[in-house]
Amino acid sequence: MRFAEIIRGLTDGYKSEGKELASFHGLGLGAPILFPILSLAMGAETNLTIDSTSPIMNAVRLNTLFNPERDGERNSFIEIIEKIFDGKDWSFMCPFCKKYKDDFGHKPEAARKWWIQNERPKIKKKDLKSGSPLSKMIPLFTKQKKTTKIKKFSDSCRIAHNHWVVEHILDQIPVGKDRVSWARKKIDEMISYESTRAEKSLKVMKEIILKT
Ligand SMILES: [Zn+2]
Repeated sequence: MRFAEIIRGLTDGYKSEGKELASFHGLGLGAPILFPILSLAMGAETNLTIDSTSPIMNAVRLNTLFNPERDGERNSFIEIIEKIFDGKDWSFMCPFCKKYKDDFGHKPEAARKWWIQNERPKIKKKDLKSGSPLSKMIPLFTKQKKTTKIKKFSDSCRIAHNHWVVEHILDQIPVGKDRVSWARKKIDEMISYESTRAEKSLKVMKEIILKT
C-alpha cells in the first residue's frame, strides 16, 4: 500500500509542476506483483528500470518461490506442498527446475499418498526438515542439511528460478503506450485469482493509483 502511495505522490508532484518524469529506477523493487502497479502509475513517457535482491531473499531466506503460472505470485514451500496434496503440481516450466527434477527427483504422487496415509495432517515446519519423508519425495520444496551437495543445488535452483520468473514477466511487458493498458489488464487478471492477501492489497493499490 505504502508503495502505491509513494509512487502516486511522485507522479502527482511532477504533474502539478507540469513536468514529465523521464526515467524512474525502482531500487529494491523485485516483487512481480508490483510491476503492473508501477507501470500503471507511471505514464508511457517514463522509462522504467528495476533491480532488487528480492528473488534471492525470497528463495533463500523466506523459502518462497515466484509462481510463473500466476504472474510471479509468491508461494511458500508449504503453499506449494498443499497444492501438490490437492492434486495440482508445480509447473517446472523454467529450465532450472526441470534440471533439478531430473537430477534430484520429484514424486508428487508419493507425497500425496504419504499425506493421505497419515490422515491428511496440516503441514508443519518439521515436515520440511532434511531427512523427513517429504524431503525425499519433493526435495525442491523442502530444506536440506547445510554442507550437502543437494543444499547447494537447491539454493542455486530456487534463486535462478525466481530470477527467471522476473525475466519471463518483464519480457511480456510492452514498450511505449501499450504498457499502461497492459498494466490495467494484468492487475484485473491478478485480482481475479483466488482471494489471497496479495490480491486484496493489489485492489487497494490500484484504487490509490487511479483515484482522481
Ligand atoms: Zn523454476
